[in-house]
Amino acid sequence: MSSATTAKPKKTVQKQTAVKGPTNVLIVGVGGQGVIMVSKILARLSQLQGLQVKQSEVHGMAKRGGSVFSHIRFGEEVWSPTIPMGEADVVLGLEWAEGLRWLRYLKPGVGTFISDTKRIVPPFSCRDRRHDARHGYAHHTIAEIVAQVPSAYAPDATGMATELGNERVANTILLGLLSTVMDFPVESWREVLAEFVPPKTLDTNLKAFEAGRAWTKQDHKPLVDDAATQAAPEPLLKREVKLEITESWCKSCDICVKMCPERCLALNDHQIVELVKPEACTGCRVCEWLCPDFAIAVHVSTVPINTISAEAAGEVQA
Ligand code: SF4
Ligand code: SF4
Repeated sequence: MSSATTAKPKKTVQKQTAVKGPTNVLIVGVGGQGVIMVSKILARLSQLQGLQVKQSEVHGMAKRGGSVFSHIRFGEEVWSPTIPMGEADVVLGLEWAEGLRWLRYLKPGVGTFISDTKRIVPPFSCRDRRHDARHGYAHHTIAEIVAQVPSAYAPDATGMATELGNERVANTILLGLLSTVMDFPVESWREVLAEFVPPKTLDTNLKAFEAGRAWTKQDHKPLVDDAATQAAPEPLLKREVKLEITESWCKSCDICVKMCPERCLALNDHQIVELVKPEACTGCRVCEWLCPDFAIAVHVSTVPINTISAEAAGEVQA
């Protein structure tokens, strides 16, 4: 489903003089991540600054992890609701591959790229089901992208949100980061955020917003690639795998069950996913990447061989 909306400002809080021509922000992600909420917040914020806003979005494939994108254009006068390729001032990705897919819309040399490093791997990129097979998901590393785009931010927003106690506020962390590269008063961001999030999550959302703002001020270590792009685990380490399943988030879609290369998962009588063959689980994380509802987290730890017993050595990976 596609929709385009044009909204005239309802009221003026503080008119911005810094914004001259239209500013173009492209927000992208997959279903369930909150792309539309982020775009509505930005549109509302622009209205409150007395600017004309046009918004165009496609979200028909949003169910179960489909692509979602939203064009937001605001300024003194805006004619078209869609952003031409190469004209986005900001591309905001709530998912890594979706961010990369839309990178060509960024203004070359001057646009700002912001993306969560969270990977939600679509099922069709996991068709090679051999153990240790490389999936077909985007293989560009974070460092490669940051090297190509002068103004790029690639936080682990989902990880930060998890530390705040709610993985779903990753979009608000990115919103906080976005607020640092735009001219709107920070207090207006907070006020509009409060309009859109459920009251019981406001406190967490405000913390997430501040965490996103604070992230830009931190001295980040050189970017390294995550486990998805690294070589195979070091030899002579015993791997310990633990699946953490948040039952209340499982929507029984069956994706993880069908795509687990080792066939370790099944839906139980209540249609909630369960690890039925723990001994066969390799910790490949395919289930975690594919779950559109973040219901599975795979924890893999390694133990050096010299700290385990001779009997256990039989289990050590070669
Ligand atoms: S845990 Fe599995 S069955 Fe449940 S929502 Fe996630 S992918 Fe679907
Ligand atoms: S990590 Fe998930 S997908 Fe991979 S083998 Fe274990 S249960 Fe299956």
